[in-house]
Amino acid sequence: MPKVDYKNLPVNYQTSVQKAEMGLWEKIYYPEVIRGLWITTGHFMRNMTVHTLHLFGLAKDKRGAVTYQYPEERRPIHRRYRGRHRLTKKDDGSERCTACMLCETICPTNCIYIVPEEHPDPTVEKHPARYEIDILRCCFCGYCVEACPCDAIRMDTSVVEIANWDRTKMVFKKEYLMADIEGPGAPPKDDPPEWWLK
Ligand code: SF4
Ligand code: SF4
Repeated sequence: MPKVDYKNLPVNYQTSVQKAEMGLWEKIYYPEVIRGLWITTGHFMRNMTVHTLHLFGLAKDKRGAVTYQYPEERRPIHRRYRGRHRLTKKDDGSERCTACMLCETICPTNCIYIVPEEHPDPTVEKHPARYEIDILRCCFCGYCVEACPCDAIRMDTSVVEIANWDRTKMVFKKEYLMADIEGPGAPPKDDPPEWWLK
């Protein structure tokens, strides 16, 4: 492989290799350690002062760094955040999905698997006998939601805790995707705050 002459690369192609070159001050090492500690301590003291003043109703216009005490305290999630999928339902509780396969076709990671079948209602052409999402392969691009002509799949659950010790349980089946979501991580039922809608 040819050796790259980093020093003479065009400006736009400068790399971190160039930036990483250290001067004498950095090479001495300790001054930079002390500078780092100074910056960290400065932020800590400032934030602690601001939050202490807030306790006494002072300096309300100043904002200190915020730490959420997860999992007891959860950071608000934006309405447009793409969380875990759900399949929406009609008024009678059946799936809206018509098994048109558009989401499966557009999915860039091939993680949607649908088996269509005839709907028992003769006025409806098809519905999915199986609808599965292999969430381990999903890249949360949202294409499936965009492609759906029936608003049958959404990613508005606000569910971000998607983990399991067992990989086989990460293939979400139709019944799971249609179930109402309760408990921690469930979408908030109250009206969203103003800033969510921006
Ligand atoms: S979000 Fe993207 S990767 Fe995930 S299921 Fe939908 S289309 Fe596929
Ligand atoms: S979820 Fe929407 S796009 Fe996917 S098969 Fe069902 S109706 Fe078609």
